[in-house]
Amino acid sequence: MKKKVKQNYEQLALSTGLRLDEEGGALYGTHGEYSVLVYPANPSYPYILAVAISAARESGPLTGDEIKQFKNDNGPVTGLGQNGYVITMSLKGSKKQEVVRDNLVSGLNALTAFLRMHGYRSSCQTCGRDVKIAPRCVSGSYVLMCQDCYAQLQQNKTLVQAQKKQKNENVIGGVVGALLGSLVGVACIILISQLGYVAALSGIVMAVCTLKGYELLGGKLSKKGMVLSVVIMLFMTFLGDRLDWAVVVSRELEIDFLTSFQLIPTLLEEQIIDGDTYWSNVTMLYLFLLVGAVPTIISTMKNQKKSGQTYSLEEGN
Ligand SMILES: [Zn+2]
Repeated sequence: MKKKVKQNYEQLALSTGLRLDEEGGALYGTHGEYSVLVYPANPSYPYILAVAISAARESGPLTGDEIKQFKNDNGPVTGLGQNGYVITMSLKGSKKQEVVRDNLVSGLNALTAFLRMHGYRSSCQTCGRDVKIAPRCVSGSYVLMCQDCYAQLQQNKTLVQAQKKQKNENVIGGVVGALLGSLVGVACIILISQLGYVAALSGIVMAVCTLKGYELLGGKLSKKGMVLSVVIMLFMTFLGDRLDWAVVVSRELEIDFLTSFQLIPTLLEEQIIDGDTYWSNVTMLYLFLLVGAVPTIISTMKNQKKSGQTYSLEEGN
């Protein structure tokens, strides 16, 4: 969590009596008789909050009229819905921390009173039983679950992980994927430059397509895969740029493409192609390659870390 966001969430925790799970950035705890989770509706914009409560009643899920009524009665509530045993409420967002806090406090009070009035009892979100539940983080998303369901889930997860380990990364497939992806990058370099735009932007396309290509055909993007992809994109960027020049040379000197391609080092030496222009072009391409590659690699590593995380938020559960 970012420091500022963390401070704000700690304040929210204080005013609602909930606790903060720093790891995943959610608030959890009990409100009235219900277990509650509060999390940003969209992780990249932490000022719009969503509230989840796991509860059930005998007369079936929330009706459209009930939802409409609840939204009419509560200004800060922008949405209410039930999916299985999970009731989610979204709240109006604001840049102002006080507004976010007030909306959350009044929304929580309203929702728990509403659920109580309509006969809802706290229940496990998986099996729906009226037993003790606790908030847990499963592969990066939050659930309100009983001990039995959680144990079952952990068991399944261990199985899946074992299977995953068995299914090795397909390096050859990955390299083929990366090469195919990098060809898209090469095509992009030539096309954009021939259209008269700054070819450097295609460095981003090159980086993303090469990495995604590896992931797609290799099954997963491991550290090894990243290194291989980077080597491929470095080489293919150089090649793409040279092909781009070959197109220009072949057009200007009216000679065939292959000869033009082979002629480029000589033309550079003889300064028929301006060395400064050539190398600054290549440098720009590599810079933009970096712009594309670094965020893709970081987000891949983050996702891998997240999908490996499963834990219970309350100790002893
Ligand atoms: Zn359960």
